Amino acid sequence: MTATIIDGKKVASLIRAECRDRVRALTRATGKQPGLAVVLVGNDPASAVYVRNKIRACESAGVQSFSYHLPSHTGTATLVDLIEQLNQDANVDGVLVQLPLPPHVDMTQVLEAISPHKDIDGFHLYNVGGLVTGNTVFSPCTPYGVVKLLESQNICIEGQNVVVVGASNIVGKPMALMLMHRNATVAICHAKTRDLAQFTILADILVVAAGQPGLIGAQMVKRGAVVIDVGINRLPDGHITGDVVFDEVKERASHITPVPGGVGPMTVTMLLVNTIDSAERRAGIVPKGLLCGS
Ligand code: NDP
Repeated sequence: MTATIIDGKKVASLIRAECRDRVRALTRATGKQPGLAVVLVGNDPASAVYVRNKIRACESAGVQSFSYHLPSHTGTATLVDLIEQLNQDANVDGVLVQLPLPPHVDMTQVLEAISPHKDIDGFHLYNVGGLVTGNTVFSPCTPYGVVKLLESQNICIEGQNVVVVGASNIVGKPMALMLMHRNATVAICHAKTRDLAQFTILADILVVAAGQPGLIGAQMVKRGAVVIDVGINRLPDGHITGDVVFDEVKERASHITPVPGGVGPMTVTMLLVNTIDSAERRAGIVPKGLLCGS
């Protein structure tokens, strides 16, 4: 068996085309473009690249971006003041604070300052709690992107055995909750899991987000499983790779995402979707949901 390669770039570009249409319609109806405020503190080169990509994605969809690049010595109180201003700003539909923040900043206080109704990253406790109860305003972008990838391939989630490898607050835990709400039976594994393979081998859908290149080989995967590789690892030779040994696992799985070109393009796309959803809600329009299912 050779797996179907799930083309994240293609799915993302379909959703982005839909985003452009929604922005055009919204701008016509309200006379104002949706707006995303992006706050970057310090000079971490990787964060600067992520922010640039997010701003470019906004521009290409017709979403206005407001960029705030603050020096690395910026304190928690200054950041909270800025966020409170952005919460009140009628031109801003989403507020994103690029992580990680410098160690002297109280990240929890900063994230809690963002209005839950502008928290397009889905990191505010209100939205985290909403994930547990199924009433979240915004879903975190990476797991949301994974759900959209599964839906784009018409992969059934209900009743499937899902194993999520990785239990972080931004990927693994929300991923597990989102799939549980879609009636999958979910197990979460982490670095202290004993004998990881005894879990992964049972998965109909295996989502790997550990940040460990080569963690999942073919012998750990059930024949015909759907394998979603969230990992992004830069090897010493500069190549980017996932957590799954792609060449051998693709001979065993039914579907697999490549790295790069799988989950990665979906993350920024879902940020755009969340921003447009927010702008539509604020304009009193019920977000109509996506081409690939909402
Ligand atoms: P974290 O480092 O915050 O979390 C990693 C998780 O994996 C932890 O729960 C950890 O367990 C677990 N883990 C680590 N090693 C193992 C192991 N050997 N076996 C089982 N579990 C293990 O990372 P993130 O969740 O932020 O990111 C995970 C990966 O996804 C990274 O490669 C990151 O670059 C990538 N990523 C990709 C995105 C995309 O858009 N494609 C977006 C965000 C992240 P424990 O809790 O016990 O420490």
